[in-house]
Amino acid sequence: MIDLRSDTVTLPTREMRQAMAAAAVGDDVYGEDPTVNRLEDLSADMLGFEAALFLCTGTQSNLAALMSHCERGDEYLVGQQAHTYKYEGGGAAVLGSIQPQPLEFAADGTIDLDKAAQAVKADDVHFAKTRLFCLENTQGGKALPLDYLARAEEFARSRNLALHLDGARIFNAAVAKGVGARDIARHFDSVSVCLSKGLGAPVGSVLCGSRSFIDKARRWRKVLGGGMRQAGVLAAAGIVALTSMVERLKEDHDNAARLAAGLTRIGEGLLRVEEVNTNMVFVSLTTGAAGELAAYLKGRGMLVTPAPRMRLVTHKDVDAGKIDAFVEAVTEFRKDFLERRL
Ligand SMILES: *Cc1c(COP(=O)(O)O)cnc(C)c1O
Repeated sequence: MIDLRSDTVTLPTREMRQAMAAAAVGDDVYGEDPTVNRLEDLSADMLGFEAALFLCTGTQSNLAALMSHCERGDEYLVGQQAHTYKYEGGGAAVLGSIQPQPLEFAADGTIDLDKAAQAVKADDVHFAKTRLFCLENTQGGKALPLDYLARAEEFARSRNLALHLDGARIFNAAVAKGVGARDIARHFDSVSVCLSKGLGAPVGSVLCGSRSFIDKARRWRKVLGGGMRQAGVLAAAGIVALTSMVERLKEDHDNAARLAAGLTRIGEGLLRVEEVNTNMVFVSLTTGAAGELAAYLKGRGMLVTPAPRMRLVTHKDVDAGKIDAFVEAVTEFRKDFLERRL
């Protein structure tokens, strides 16, 4: 099986399963799960924050963060295609009474700071109170430029806005930029990180911030139904993810580059490959090809999500040999596809 739909499909490693089986546990709602506490301390330390909180999902983590930064009637500036805005069921508005102000992402995954400045509302009874600026890194597989992060921080400070990072794949960004995750995280008031994507843990995210911010988020996590009990069995896998799975993300990036090169070589008449930055390859397909290609590949045990602009994601369970097999299958499909259209 070659599954390129997402890096969420990664399976836990043997080391993770062993750590899960052996984990010391307690009731985390009482703060008594030693393994959860260890994961939270480790996360805070790795990202350079005072404190951290283990949550069920990235969605829950972002929502708890937004609800901790904002109150009812507040507003947050966010990308039009951002996960928190578009792919989390509108949670900020639905459950947080927080109004989103979406802004287009630029091609490099940043939000233009002049446009963001224009969207900040004046203190006037007509307007929601703009309270928070939210970025995403990586965004669509792109690692945000480091100098942009510094400028975003300066902008947020100057406007008295809090700055949150949906850093679901912050470690991919750090590896791509050749810096530590701290060098990215230090610009933000809070950062949410997924353990269950390229890092391979079966479940979980961590939210990092100041002690007082995390205390608030812990309260919201309980309200959101995310107070788990002997969660150390899950946190144990998260610890393995953070201690042994970060540096290997480079392999995923190399495999994405290999995939992009292979598809570029054979793509003429079928697909066009976009520039690759981390572990995602975006390809635009000739009209009508996406569904056919996905069905063809599925018959060969290869999974992709059909779309005119298709996202292919590399991860630890797809090695270079599988990438080559995938390119080979697309090569065969292309031959068929083009012959049928002549
Ligand atoms: C996956 C993801 C999340 C969180 O997703 P969950 O499935 O809820 O863990 C948040 N932001 C981004 C950018 C993501 O890719």
